[in-house]
Amino acid sequence: MLLVKLLIERTARSLDRPFSYLYDGKDTIVAGVRVLVEFNHKTVVGYVVSVEKTNKTGEELSKETGFTYKFIEKVLDHTPLLSKQLMALATRMSSYYLAPHIAILQTMLPLSLRPRMVSLRGPKVAYDVFLFASNQNEEGLTPKQKELLRYIINNPEVNKRDLKSPSIIKKLIELGRIQEIRKEKRRYKLPSYPVNDKPELTRAQKEVVDEFINSKDQIYLLEGVTGSGKTEVYLALAEYYLAQNKTVLMLVPEIALTPMMVAMFLARYDKQVAVLHSELTPAEKYDEYRRIAQKKCKIVVGTRSAIFAPLTNLGLIILDEEHSDSYKQDQMPTYHARTVAIFRSEIEGAKVLLGSATPALESKARAAKNVYHQLNLAERINKKELPKTAIINMLDYRNIDSKSLVFSKQLLNSLRETLNRNEQAILLINRRGYATYITCRSCGHVFRCPNDQTTLTYHMSDNMLKCHHCDHVEEMSTICPACGSTQIRKTGYGTELVDREVKKFFPSARTLRLDSDSAKERSRIAKTVEAFRKQEADILIGTQMIAKGHDFPLVTLVGIVNADLGLLVPSYKSSERTFQLITQAVGRSGRANRCGEAIIQTNLPQHYAITLGAKQDYHEFFNQELIVRSLAQNPPFTYLIKLTLKSKSESTVERVTTQLAIELATKLNDNASIIGPSLPFIFYERNTYARYILIKYRDYEIVKATLEKTLMPLIAKSDFQVIIDVDAEDV
Ligand code: ADP
Ligand code: ZN
Repeated sequence: MLLVKLLIERTARSLDRPFSYLYDGKDTIVAGVRVLVEFNHKTVVGYVVSVEKTNKTGEELSKETGFTYKFIEKVLDHTPLLSKQLMALATRMSSYYLAPHIAILQTMLPLSLRPRMVSLRGPKVAYDVFLFASNQNEEGLTPKQKELLRYIINNPEVNKRDLKSPSIIKKLIELGRIQEIRKEKRRYKLPSYPVNDKPELTRAQKEVVDEFINSKDQIYLLEGVTGSGKTEVYLALAEYYLAQNKTVLMLVPEIALTPMMVAMFLARYDKQVAVLHSELTPAEKYDEYRRIAQKKCKIVVGTRSAIFAPLTNLGLIILDEEHSDSYKQDQMPTYHARTVAIFRSEIEGAKVLLGSATPALESKARAAKNVYHQLNLAERINKKELPKTAIINMLDYRNIDSKSLVFSKQLLNSLRETLNRNEQAILLINRRGYATYITCRSCGHVFRCPNDQTTLTYHMSDNMLKCHHCDHVEEMSTICPACGSTQIRKTGYGTELVDREVKKFFPSARTLRLDSDSAKERSRIAKTVEAFRKQEADILIGTQMIAKGHDFPLVTLVGIVNADLGLLVPSYKSSERTFQLITQAVGRSGRANRCGEAIIQTNLPQHYAITLGAKQDYHEFFNQELIVRSLAQNPPFTYLIKLTLKSKSESTVERVTTQLAIELATKLNDNASIIGPSLPFIFYERNTYARYILIKYRDYEIVKATLEKTLMPLIAKSDFQVIIDVDAEDV
């Protein structure tokens, strides 16, 4: 008889502990497999954490403990789903993020392998059937049978699906001339993308590679201006680790935006590469995951969740654009891929390389204190100059073109010149935390979503008002519902308006648009990026997503239409995000042999995030921003936890959050400051009200212990939800 401890699939924190069951069946059970058990009169999936042999019967055990044991109904897996190292990582994450163990496991595994009932209906392994000749004797065969047999002899891997004559195949199998072999199929089709040949590393690149390899430190920050050739450094390091028989994990913020990175790795390492990202179908992800687990791949290129790829013998984890917001998951568990990468590297004895032109302030501060080993690529490849930049004050009427809603005279001029030279331009609209909203001029009424009170955005293409938070859509109204006035005004602008303005001034210019609306369609981003690279358009218009790591050789003008909107978002990161956006966007200009130009339109031409972004002066920005952060005691001087409480009753959530804030303030005393309760940006949604509290602290252990004690009784109650965001960024 086996005494088995397992976790139940339900992610309630009150159930986050092992439950004991018995097993006396024929299958082998080891820690790390899934089983079916009955729990509260329902069949659920359990994840086995330990197995112990016992000579006692169920009755004897029950007598000892006064507890009736149930039996495991079915064993679902033969081998553990996660390695010891990944199990250790899950434990570490569960403790750090104060998240239920099972929730972490469900995040780590692909759909079909998750410990959850619904996952059992996920995609299964698909097979290709190949034919090969087992007996080449042609005696007694018809000409048609001979023809097929010869074909199979001459072609090593014939896929059965590619042949048209099932009856002949069947006959040849019966006659013992050919055999079938089943092989696991890879449903993901690798993309093709033109890449350069492998260049000789520059001296600067070589020095970085050597220093990384020869140093004993664990975590490295590679600060390299845009166009300094970081990708070749990643590739060279990957090559080194592969030669050492180690595996490599390469993380990028968004796959569709970085087709080049995947392509470069594929071009050099071909089938050794697995790709894992959110745009794969569950079936494709499952296949890639299994290929990695079966040790068929040595390199994984992927987005955030690829940090959990089941590589063994891991030598190197690289995070490109390490400052990127997309490394932070905004749903529970709210992990950051950088933090997890560091945890994982400690467990596996791997090194971590964080690369960026504009490292996150926290990362740079750690490098400055020698917590991370700093590496630099200070110059662009071939010492190419940085683009010439101009900051245009949009509050000065002399700069505004009277016929344009969005463009300054300078930007219009530069656009005209760029088009005349047959070169390409990028126009960037900074829309983070911002929507084009509709107001009534006479009474000030703002059109909002009835579900969640978000301001509605006007969409010109279908003349509709849409909520960007939920699915709500309504007809654009010409009459104010509050006062009946027809003085409806549209404030702000999106990519559609900019596109229309471009067409107004340059009717023959070909444009492409890319924003989060158009990006909904799978693979749409990649297609647009590819079309623009192939010069199928002259101007690419988009939101911040187009500012990231593309390499468009013919772009010589980048126009940032509204640089400061990000600064209006109340967040301690708003200056940093604006600086990063401008630096990254300006860096898109003039990447190949041509000189680049960037025009930054702003209402805040003196703001340091904008002036220093224009100059790409990361060092000065870092120094100034560090002072600002220090004054406000924000990260990296402190750490932040955001606790969000939600309930169907507004008075309950208000009362409980206030009580919690007082309790935490009393218990934590000088060890933390408590801010709130405050109203989140979306404070009402689907009949649920939300409040949040911020905890600012220096020593996590004390805060964690207090939170565990204080929150547990609250979490056990069913009438509301508690969301814990450790290292919160969106505040
Ligand atoms: P970053 O990621 O640092 O912005 P990239 O890796 O995109 O820069 O490199 C910028 C450009 O320089 C790319 O077009 C790349 O092909 C080219 N490049 C990189 N390393 C070399 C090298 N050693 N020799 C010649 N060209 C290089
Ligand atoms: Zn809505």
